Amino acid sequence: MNNLSSIDPKSPSTLHARSNLLIIILLGPPGAGKGTHAGPLSQRLHIPHISTGDLFRENIRQKTPLGLQIQEIMSQGSLVPDALVLEMLFDRISKKDCEKGFILDGFPRTLPQAQTLFTEFPNLLALYFDLPDETLVERIVGRLACKQCGKPYHRQFDPPKQTGLCDQCKTPLIQREDDREEIVRKRLQIYKDQTQPVIDFFAQKPDVLKEIPSFGSKDQIFLRILQAISIDLLRN
Ligand code: AMP
Repeated sequence: MNNLSSIDPKSPSTLHARSNLLIIILLGPPGAGKGTHAGPLSQRLHIPHISTGDLFRENIRQKTPLGLQIQEIMSQGSLVPDALVLEMLFDRISKKDCEKGFILDGFPRTLPQAQTLFTEFPNLLALYFDLPDETLVERIVGRLACKQCGKPYHRQFDPPKQTGLCDQCKTPLIQREDDREEIVRKRLQIYKDQTQPVIDFFAQKPDVLKEIPSFGSKDQIFLRILQAISIDLLRN
């Protein structure tokens, strides 16, 4: 159930509570680094990292009714319908661990998703990462993740110490089905058609969108993220 939809958005106490929330959304094409920085950022800010893609993959793994409904859509690289995404997301962010805020990765991906989120949380901060298509393809098709703990790796740029095994838990690494090149190119096209309008939507709102230059090392980029957030926090 979408608990937040039952909150009266005009109630002053509700607005006050929400204005204290730290809500960060990570925007950008697949492979731009959203997932890489989301984990460390979550640890630094003590708010949960919520990836709609991870939530869907967990539903598929557990064979829930939602998982069975979206399995085919996801394996083809298409977008899950807005109503299903919104219901799942609002259910997740109504949990207790989100009461101080949260980091969203992979959401919003369509204009209706963005409008719904912004209506509920007008104080959100959007961090935008971008890279050329060929760099994105190279990054994504080499991507691997631990089957057990989800730790990300890259065949070339960030290989595990022992080929095919997670450094942390020694579980085999897997490639996502939708990280195959032909599906990746389709996902990039969907991003251009459906998610680019989301960037334009937030760019029109004053002080919401911060572009994070995505060249340089992981640490350099993370530092830029922290600077963008602290400047914003000082403003409030
Ligand atoms: P990601 O892990 O963010 O790359 O997402 C993997 C897949 O999950 C996408 O290609 C979509 O099929 C689905 N998905 C994740 N988030 C959303 C969303 N906000 N809207 C629609 N589909 C989504």
